Amino acid sequence: MASALPPSEARVALVTGSTSGIGRAVAARLAATGHDVVLHGRDQERAAKAAAEVAAETGGLTDSVHGDVADYGVVSAMMRQIYQRHGRLDSLVINAGIHAAGLLGMMRHDTVSRLFEVNAMGATHTLQASLRLLRRGTGPAVVLVSSIMGRAGGPGQAVYSATKASVIGLTLAAAKELGPTGIRVNAVAPGYIQTDMLSTLGEQARTATVAATPLGRLGRPDDVARATAFLLSPDADFVTGQVIGVDGGLVL
Ligand code: NAD
Repeated sequence: MASALPPSEARVALVTGSTSGIGRAVAARLAATGHDVVLHGRDQERAAKAAAEVAAETGGLTDSVHGDVADYGVVSAMMRQIYQRHGRLDSLVINAGIHAAGLLGMMRHDTVSRLFEVNAMGATHTLQASLRLLRRGTGPAVVLVSSIMGRAGGPGQAVYSATKASVIGLTLAAAKELGPTGIRVNAVAPGYIQTDMLSTLGEQARTATVAATPLGRLGRPDDVARATAFLLSPDADFVTGQVIGVDGGLVL
């Protein structure tokens, strides 16, 4: 079990959806580079286990919260916990998300709703509920995880693409609205990254994707983690409202 953090001078980060994949890699990178990191997942046990593992791997300090980002009340309660334990947020990574593919005429309505509830409303809830904590932070910065699908779309991806395009709209408007308060807001748009989410991609599609990628490989979670860490860092302190593709050039 990861324990609540003692007071420290490190930056405080929350990474949603960090029990696996991209979020987990982001949490590890931030923990290794001077952040106290609050990991998050749907399930309490999994979130606490991931936090303990990241602390052991990196020597950093970690904590965990849990809950469904589709539920605004749950997200607000999570932010209250972070306020009580840490008092502020300096970095926020809005990463939790789900994927489902299906032709427009075939996708079930409950799948459509759930995609929007988690990916679009979940991102919005998280940003809204974190604002008070971010205002208490130093050089506060937010990175939202969109997708290549939010920029380019793809057959069988219309609904997922729509949810990820909404993340880009949220990023652009929030950057304008929050810039004057000193909060930077950017997005990353990963291409095909080797995580559980990609497990449904067949061998043929995998080969075709690599062939269409100028840099000639699939992405790794740490590719996204490094771009995210840059956007959160003081090196990016004049960068806001940007959507950085992390896709090996696939979107070009
Ligand atoms: P993943 O399935 O490994 O991770 C998803 C994370 O989100 C998990 O920690 C899960 O617990 C959490 N999550 C899902 N639904 C949730 C909910 N309702 N409430 C709280 N937490 C929830 O997949 P990943 O590939 O690491 O995906 C991370 C993000 O990257 C997602 O937003 C995804 O859309 C985006 N993305 C992934 C790829 C890719 O190729 N893997 C490409 C582009 C964008």
